[in-house]
Amino acid sequence: MNRWLIFFLIISVGLSASININYRSQPLSEEIRTQEIDNIEYFNIFELDKVFKALITADLLDQRLYVNIYGSQITFLLDSSYLQFMGEDYNFQYPIILQKEKYFLPITFLTDILPILFPQKITFSSNTIIADTPIDNSIKTIVLDPGHGGKDPGAVGYSKKNFEKNVALQVARKLKEKLEAALDVQVLLTRSKDEFVSLQSRTDFANKIDADLFISLHCNAHRNKQVKGIEVYYLSTAKTDEARAVEAMENSVVFDFEGGDKAVQQYNDLAFILADMAQNEHLEESYRISSYLQDNLTKQTTSYNRGVKQANFYVLRGAYMPSVLVEMGFISNKSGEQKLVSASYQKKIVNSIFESVRAFKFKYDKMR
Ligand SMILES: [Zn+2]
Repeated sequence: MNRWLIFFLIISVGLSASININYRSQPLSEEIRTQEIDNIEYFNIFELDKVFKALITADLLDQRLYVNIYGSQITFLLDSSYLQFMGEDYNFQYPIILQKEKYFLPITFLTDILPILFPQKITFSSNTIIADTPIDNSIKTIVLDPGHGGKDPGAVGYSKKNFEKNVALQVARKLKEKLEAALDVQVLLTRSKDEFVSLQSRTDFANKIDADLFISLHCNAHRNKQVKGIEVYYLSTAKTDEARAVEAMENSVVFDFEGGDKAVQQYNDLAFILADMAQNEHLEESYRISSYLQDNLTKQTTSYNRGVKQANFYVLRGAYMPSVLVEMGFISNKSGEQKLVSASYQKKIVNSIFESVRAFKFKYDKMR
């Protein structure tokens, strides 16, 4: 073999074993390990997670791979060398390879394409990528809000022995445990014991910790003891008389326990304009998780499906994140009450909400 060729091979192998990443605003650096496949330098796509906090999801039915970097989505077609970004097609020369259940991209994606996709954020020269600090956009923090508490019992059961506030807290505790065990999330409760918490401080808490999702848990009640079923709400001005009635009931805490007319006025003046702005931004996501919840809850509990509804709840108004209110059943109904206080029904509720959050997280992580 020609000694120049040997020299060249040594140089190129030496250069391509890894690519360095330096971050502009941090002293940290990382590297992407590469390996040769069919004489081309490739890297495991999950290296992008490590260095860019990229969210990576595969849709095998659609033969697509989604990679979200800096809040923008790149769509790869499996087995092809093309990607789509902001409505444009880009060719990175060599196809994506699936090997031992891992996806590999050619390093041309890193060296040639990424700097074109993110010219303000990524540059490449002499085997080093210089990049802006990555953004982690996945759903990490969830606030569960057990309704009522302390001096406010919420709805009273058919037997007059059980209260909404206790069911809500029991479900919230179990749900927290399940979510934290199975998903990479931190779950916080607006109250973890039987205490009174004002509606505003519930959302203030969620805003302060910059939560990604807010779920308020409640039991429904109706003057007519026959009324039953599950309904999930997201924020907007109440659309039907029934939704208005539930809205009035859940909001009455402000009048009954938080200082009457004055407090109501304050909520109206202060919170409404802000909340409207905040919630408009998250309306689609709130609707999406409401649909997942309604679907899973009614299927798993075989409860009567009262549908996804919109209402103007104080407790959702101040939340700057996707937020929903779940009415887990009618405690004013005889069998509804028996179910709501039973461990088996609560387990079904917990599983249904868990499944919905998981589906939502998958979808939302991908989109953001
Ligand atoms: Zn309630």
